[in-house]
Parts: sequence; structure tokens; C-alpha cells
Amino acid sequence: MKRIYLIITGLFLFSGTFFAQKVSSKKAPKPEDVGIAVITRNTLEAHLAFLASDALEGRAAGKNSGRVAAEYIKAVLLDAGISPLYNSYFQSFDAFAPHSGDYDIKTRFQVHADSVAKIKQVPYYRRLGLQNVLGFIEGQRKDEYVVVGAHYDHLDIDEFLAGDRIFNGADDNASGVAAVLQVAKAFAVSGKKPLRSVIFAFWDAEEYGFLGSEYFVAHFNNSAAIKGYINLDMVGREGSFPAFLLENPNAVDAAQEKNPNKIYFLRTADATGYGEQLDKDLASHHQDVRFAPRILLPAVRASDDHSFSNKNIPVLWFFTGIHPDYHTPDDEAGKINWDKLLYITQATYLSLWNLAN
Ligand SMILES: [Zn+2]
Repeated sequence: MKRIYLIITGLFLFSGTFFAQKVSSKKAPKPEDVGIAVITRNTLEAHLAFLASDALEGRAAGKNSGRVAAEYIKAVLLDAGISPLYNSYFQSFDAFAPHSGDYDIKTRFQVHADSVAKIKQVPYYRRLGLQNVLGFIEGQRKDEYVVVGAHYDHLDIDEFLAGDRIFNGADDNASGVAAVLQVAKAFAVSGKKPLRSVIFAFWDAEEYGFLGSEYFVAHFNNSAAIKGYINLDMVGREGSFPAFLLENPNAVDAAQEKNPNKIYFLRTADATGYGEQLDKDLASHHQDVRFAPRILLPAVRASDDHSFSNKNIPVLWFFTGIHPDYHTPDDEAGKINWDKLLYITQATYLSLWNLAN
């Protein structure tokens, strides 16, 4: 997750908690049930532990470590029988930033054509070679799309850091990548051609300001054909929702905030009906998680969802909150709450299934 910018006009707290009920069913398996059966804790752990290993050196956007992560994602998609969206699984692009002779490391990389043109007018500028990884299942409707995405880049190595130098990014955001890889596989094995076409997206350079998702949306031939976006960024820990993002922080249910199994279920105001549907779906799949639904405003610039809400595309975002290891070398695989990650992956799959069908 990108450090959250304070460009907000407010955030409404959606009160109430969903309690999933245990319901048993003895009918023949539906295609979505066939898919959900392949989402397992072991596979989530395998994907996440590899991506967040020290060998992956913090999955830096534009560096070899980031490319290794991209190659891994491509290999998993290929193995699951998911086609590339375009000719290649990789959507390659460049980002540019003005060269700065001082120690200002915050000089922003940009992908917007106008900003890039401006940057290239100066004699020295910096370039990052980046790539999104994009998988695809064609639906019955070829002109309607739904997208599920997670950023795979993280914060590199800080070679001057005393002690542990590797930013493993287990929660941020190997957790989201592992989940989307499993959701893609579940769609493939369900055996059903969805009504709408589905895009499985793995974004590069989110930590630089959502560059991968911004580039994707800007270059998609018809963004109005994207009917919804589900974002997964940081879905494996216990944390809190930054109070300064809430219109009324005092309205937060203190008991709910202390529940380690709570999941923030954020959505833009135009994504209506999903909370109720998700509650029903989870009940029929024996889930026992507690959702803290909140309305996400487009003005909140926190993750790749912003690239979509900015184009008036309805957004859902699962999130388990900010914790003390956020953006530190201590965001490691050993601290992941696997059961919770499993629940969220199943919930994402069911939400996407509904969105696609
Ligand atoms: Zn982050």
C-alpha cells in the first residue's frame, strides 16, 4: 500500500458487522463451489513465502528482483491455464522522473503522457522499465470486463540500513498477489465460461504512486467497458484503519476494532449491493469472518483502486489494516494470519464470481 495522501474530503463509516452463519448444503456442486475447493492455505503459503523470501530482495519496481516476481506470476498463470490479456503476459511500460541533483528522493515517477513529455524536456531524467502481468478469461460478453488486481512490487533493499535490510513485503503485498493467483486458478477450474470477461492483474510500481494500474487504465481501449474492480492490497495481518481517513473516527466500534478477525471491506458509493451479496455467499461457504464495511471515496489516494475510481469504475477493496511492521523490514511471511488470508481469498473469488456473472 502506498503511503496515504491526505487528499480526502471525508469518509463515511458504514456501521454494522456482518456475521456469517453456518449453513450446510447437500446439493451437487455448483461451478463456483468447484472453484472454491482449489483455494487452499498451503498454496497461498507457497506463493506468499516465495514472493516474500529474502531471495526476492524486496521486489523492487524496475530492478531484477521485481522482474523475478513478475516471471513467477506469469509461470503460475500459465500453469493454471490462464491466457495472457494481450500478446504477452507482460504489459511493459516506462515511467520517468526529473533528475534531481540533491538528496530529494521523492521526485515522482510519472506515466501520464503529458507529464512524461514535460520531464523529457530537461537534459537529465530518470527512467524505470516496468511491467504489469495480465491474465485473461474471455467471457460470453466480449465487451464487458471485470478486473481483480494486486500490486506485486515492494520497497527493495536499503543497503545502508543497520540490521535487516530487506523489505520483504509479505503483507504488502505478497498477500494480495497470492490471493489473486488462487482466484485465477479457481476461475479456471470452475469450468464455466463467465458472462463477463475477467482480467487478473498484477500491478508494478504501486509503491511509486500506483503507476502500473494508472498505465493500464489509461491504455485500455475502453475503460467504460470495465464494470467493476476488486483491489487486494495488504490482506494478511491484523491492523487498524487509519483514523484520519474517517469522517467520524469516534463512530468506530471499539470492540470490533479489537477483533483480530475483522476485515475492512471498502467500496466506492457506486458499488452498491455487494456487501449484502457477499454476506450471503460467505454464509453458504461456512465462513466465520467479520467484515467492517466502509465507503471509500475516490479522493482517498491509498492504493491501485484509485486508478479505477478516478475513471468512475466501481471499486471494492479488501484490507486488513495498517500495523507497526508496515513499510519496515519486519513485514515478513512468518507474521501472516493464514486463516484470515484464506477467508479473504475465498471472499474475493465469490465477489468476483458475482461481478462476472
Ligand atoms: Zn506499501
